[in-house]
Formats: sequence, C-alpha cells, structure tokens
Amino acid sequence: MPFTSLGLAPALVQAAAALGFQTPTPIQSQAIPAVLAGRDLLATAQTGSGKTAAYALPLLHRLAHADARAPRRVQALVVVPTRELAAQAGEVVRALAQPLPRPPKVVVAFGGVSINPQMMALRGGADVVVATPGRLLDLVAHNALRLSSVNLLVLDEADRLLDLGFADELQRVLELLPAQRQNLFFSATFPAPVQTLANGLLHEPECIDV
Ligand code: AMP
Repeated sequence: MPFTSLGLAPALVQAAAALGFQTPTPIQSQAIPAVLAGRDLLATAQTGSGKTAAYALPLLHRLAHADARAPRRVQALVVVPTRELAAQAGEVVRALAQPLPRPPKVVVAFGGVSINPQMMALRGGADVVVATPGRLLDLVAHNALRLSSVNLLVLDEADRLLDLGFADELQRVLELLPAQRQNLFFSATFPAPVQTLANGLLHEPECIDV
C-alpha cells in the first residue's frame, strides 16, 4: 500500500518521500488511517518499526490545516522516556513538518540540561511538544507551558517510561490534559503495569501488533 492511499495531506507524503520513506512500514499502514479517523491506538512496536513516523505523520496532518492567524497553542504532546528519544523523535517530527505551508513549531524538552533555552523556545507558543515527563512538569511549574489545549497525546515507549520510574510524573501530566483528547500508546512490551496504564488511558483503541 503506497503512502498516497493512507489519507495524508500530499505535502506530508512528499515530506516522507524526502526522508526516503517511499512505502509505509506495516505499523504505518495500519496506524495512520486509524489515527486520522480519530481512533485511540494501542500499538506493540519495537524501535526500528517506523513507529515515530506512524504517529508523527497523522499528528502533523491534523495540524496541517491550522489557521495561519491563530496563536500557537500546544495541540499535540509526545511523552518519551529519555533525552535521546526526545531528540530523535523531535527531529523526525520537525523534518516531516518542514514542507507544510505553515510549518508547525515543534519544541523538544528533556531534563539534565538547563531549562532556560527550553523556556525561551516556548516563548510565542508551540504546536507540538516532545518531552520527558519530569522536565515537562518543570516547564509547567515555571509557567512556560500550558497543556490545556492538548488534543492529541502520544506515549512513546510506555514500558520504558514506567521502568525508569516515571509513573507518578506521568499521572501528574495526565491530570493537566483535557479529558477530551485522542491517545496513542506505543510500547515494546506489555507487562501488567503497562497494560493497566493503557487501560486507564485508551477508549476503544485500535490495536496493532506488527
Ligand atoms: P523508528 O522505529 O521510528 O525509530 O524508525 C526506524 C527507522 O526507520 C528510522 O531510521 C526511520 O528513518 C526509518 N523509517 C521509518 N519509516 C520508514 C519508511 N516508511 N520507509 C523507510 N524507512 C523508514
């Protein structure tokens, strides 16, 4: 199945091609139509499966028709366990966003470095935030970030988020989000705590295991 048949804006199909993505990976061809249809998603996905573009492309599709005059407000939040994954996922989202008529502003935030540049990056708003849970809460506490307009949440590598002890931070982040939103849940493994987290978060999800 080609990228053109998934329902994505043509500019995003071109953006994918520019990164050398000619044919969707199995997780992409299953996830993208479901996410575009507004479904929650529960995906068993390993690194290397193409999971980042599986959420980045439909996420950007939803932002592609944004009103150019509207102020930027964080509509999509991607929560990841590590600094490396934040940087990596942020790069993919940015690269795919670039060719859009009004490229969404993507801010990446993680702990272990000074918060000031991240606060500066959030000045004037952002459309997409990719972040680790602790730094996300720090930015909210500094009034640098508001999460009240998020309508799409992605949890990437949910099992590692719990393994690294982020359960409490994650709960606090979830409490800051509007109840009305779409949730995309990616994990390589599903031990009981991950299953419980998914059950509490997802509403009639499309389940994908590739
Ligand atoms: P990920 O699982 O998101 O970490 O992606 C793994 C690798 O696959 C990355 O290097 C991506 O650039 C690459 N990739 C993702 N989607 C595709 C695709 N449709 N075709 C070719 N390469 C891809």
